[in-house]
Amino acid sequence: MGMENGAPIATLTDVAYFHRRGIRYVTLAHSRDNQISDSSYDTLRTNGGLSAFGRDVVREMNRVGILVDVSHLTDAAIRDVLAVTTRPVIATHSGCRHFTPGMERNLPDTLIRAIARNGGVVQVPFSHYFLSARSREVFFQAEKKLKDKGLDANSPEGRQFMTAELTTSGVSVRDVADHIDHIKNLVGVAHIGLGGDFDGVGLALPPDLADVSMYPNLIAELLRRGYSKSDIRKICYQNTVRVWQASEQRGK
Ligand SMILES: [Zn+2]
Repeated sequence: MGMENGAPIATLTDVAYFHRRGIRYVTLAHSRDNQISDSSYDTLRTNGGLSAFGRDVVREMNRVGILVDVSHLTDAAIRDVLAVTTRPVIATHSGCRHFTPGMERNLPDTLIRAIARNGGVVQVPFSHYFLSARSREVFFQAEKKLKDKGLDANSPEGRQFMTAELTTSGVSVRDVADHIDHIKNLVGVAHIGLGGDFDGVGLALPPDLADVSMYPNLIAELLRRGYSKSDIRKICYQNTVRVWQASEQRGK
């Protein structure tokens, strides 16, 4: 189990408590700054990165064996995490800022390289929100049309309308594979994972990668691009398992 937000960690002893309850990764912050870290979606920059308490939380997570998830954090906070952590980190759902200039929620090349040096893994998300400046615009336009028609996004008609709109836009597994290619070219396949974020992005998903039944479409695209079966196994699970195992080795 994971916790997407460290906000419930009020004291250092809470870290071991959540570990006992089965938590194995914590995203330090979500959409707002908290007592641990700043969030890329917030504007306040409360801590200037990781707080002093946040540094202790990272050390305690390292000690008890909880993965530090740097998705959602500011660049400064991620740099602070990497300076403190003695274990590889995970970005559970973060794309490449290369394709979305100015969007801090995605990782810049410098931090992708830093996470690779740390031995960590970047799990690429699939949503229009993360894929490109164009995919974001495509989704916002479709959503606006949905609202103009008075359709509810959760109704069968709303879903059908959005699927039709998003299919004509052409955003697809190819856009996701572009992120995977970009990370491979920067740091190699050993630092790439998949971070679908299916429960976090509503209808903003490519029609050929809209739920877990469609993973084979992405794998077919990677095969077309020349990825070996061994590379694909690493991307699908082995890299993340390697980082997870490193976080569970005590006393190192
Ligand atoms: Zn998220």
